Amino acid sequence: MNEYGEVIENVSLKNYNTYRIDTHAKYLIKPYDVNNLQKLIKYLDNEKIKYYILGKGSNVILPDQYFDGVIINLDNLNKVVINNEEVYADAGISLSNLVLKTVDSNLAGLENLANIPGTLGGALYGNAGAYNTCIFDVLEDITIIKDNELKTILKDDIKYSYRDTEFKHYDCIIISCHLKLKKGNKEELLKIINENKIKRKNSQPLSEPNAGSVFKNPEGYSAGKLIDDLNLKGFHVNDAYVSTIHANFIVNKGKATSADIKKLISLIKEKVYNEYNIKLELEQIIVEWD
Ligand SMILES: Cc1cc2nc3c(=O)[nH]c(=O)nc-3n(C[C@H](O)[C@H](O)[C@H](O)COP(=O)(O)OP(=O)(O)OC[C@H]3O[C@@H](n4cnc5c(N)ncnc54)[C@H](O)[C@@H]3O)c2cc1C
Repeated sequence: MNEYGEVIENVSLKNYNTYRIDTHAKYLIKPYDVNNLQKLIKYLDNEKIKYYILGKGSNVILPDQYFDGVIINLDNLNKVVINNEEVYADAGISLSNLVLKTVDSNLAGLENLANIPGTLGGALYGNAGAYNTCIFDVLEDITIIKDNELKTILKDDIKYSYRDTEFKHYDCIIISCHLKLKKGNKEELLKIINENKIKRKNSQPLSEPNAGSVFKNPEGYSAGKLIDDLNLKGFHVNDAYVSTIHANFIVNKGKATSADIKKLISLIKEKVYNEYNIKLELEQIIVEWD
């Protein structure tokens, strides 16, 4: 596989997921470019080797079990081209880097997303958003690899909703996208970014490993408030704790396993359902290596 990208063998994924779950994979590969990524996928399919695309691992609960396959990391796909208000960006770029580049070009539209950790690919996959903005608001089209062919799909032809897109429901790799932004003022946009950063610092457990909001907000409710009202802050399964800062966050106090986090999630869901008759839906993604 060395011909397709940088390969790391027998890799701990602890530094590749923001929960810091200490799980391992046989290989991690960073393809050099899209062409090599396509060749890699063809090779893996032919050899019947399993693979999993991981961005910054900031929205996933990885399994505890060893992955006898290949983690694909798109760090090397990180080009951005800005042409007036049109932005063409590769999926591997970190979302915050992309936002800063667009703001630097006096373009508005992404500023509310500046402090979301993760890659552009991860953001497109789950329609990430914050402060009443989501990435699909400014999207024109997405290029993916599906059935080992490159396809560009217009936004109008993509099914998406709150923290959901069709890409969650079939196998594909998001390669790049085209965004349309508006002219803005760099100083004003930076001010918004800094204000949002302070809000997050004051309301989220940023110094402890976590993967963002655990549950989606049920229509008309705040998941965090429902959990907080049940006095579940500090409730825990081994080292997996409901954050005392924000009840819709689970934090890893040290050696939390995937099983601990999942057990805590099911206990929270059960308690919320018993009390309010509301079924909480996960925003985070439980990964299974299959
Ligand atoms: C402190 C904190 C705050 C957060 N705040 C927010 C917030 O305000 N709003 C919000 O929406 N999210 C938030 N998140 C969650 C997370 O950062 C986002 O969902 C982010 O977009 C995930 O990107 P990622 O690269 O880390 O994806 P990962 O977690 O690596 O992957 C998520 C899923 O996307 C798939 N995937 C990733 N890249 C690709 C690709 N190129 N092609 C196909 N599939 C792909 C993966 O296979 C996986 O299923 C927060 C997380 C943390 C830790």
